[in-house]
Amino acid sequence: MKVKFLKSGVKPEEYPFPYQPEVAVVGRSNAGKSSFINALVKQKIAKVSQTPGKTRLLNFFDLDDKLYMVDMPGYGFATGNRREVEFWRTMIETYLKERKTLKGVLLIMDIRRDWDEEEEMLAEWFAHNDIKWALILNKTDKLSRSQMLNKKNAIQKKLGVPVYALSSAKKTGFDEVKTLLFKEWIK
Ligand code: GDP
Repeated sequence: MKVKFLKSGVKPEEYPFPYQPEVAVVGRSNAGKSSFINALVKQKIAKVSQTPGKTRLLNFFDLDDKLYMVDMPGYGFATGNRREVEFWRTMIETYLKERKTLKGVLLIMDIRRDWDEEEEMLAEWFAHNDIKWALILNKTDKLSRSQMLNKKNAIQKKLGVPVYALSSAKKTGFDEVKTLLFKEWIK
């Protein structure tokens, strides 16, 4: 896949010109969002997003001149200060509301964690703005196959959106996600 870093931004006037349909990736810190993105595109692009000063911003990439991908800053606010939390909320809510080319959001979760208040808040924003989304359960290599299936089925039933279980470390389970992005969300 040909990948190009486009730019970083916070506000709509800083987003790149919307030449391509776009997908966004969001997740709790440590869920494996960077590992997921790197495994998806088969190169270390997410490291750009981890350079100092850029971890709090929306980082936009072009994939194959077909799709823009936005790496959104991670969350997990239990330890965050209020101003940081407000900054994140405003940036994400504004993006979801304003970005007309957004085709869908991938929410990355560590499969061993439970659905929590912050995921619920994101799901409400998606619903409120009529945005398609899918849940990616990462780190399946940490569970047995039956544990993995139980977890996946239970959460799929609860949420009613597509759920994908994969391992970014082992790079397994990515084909269906690619189909979702390149064949279903963009056409
Ligand atoms: P981010 O904070 O969401 O961007 O998470 P990272 O991609 O930096 O990953 C957080 C930690 O989880 C790192 O130590 C990764 O090596 C590890 N990790 C990410 N994906 C997987 C996975 O699929 N399996 C396992 N076992 N570890 C993973």
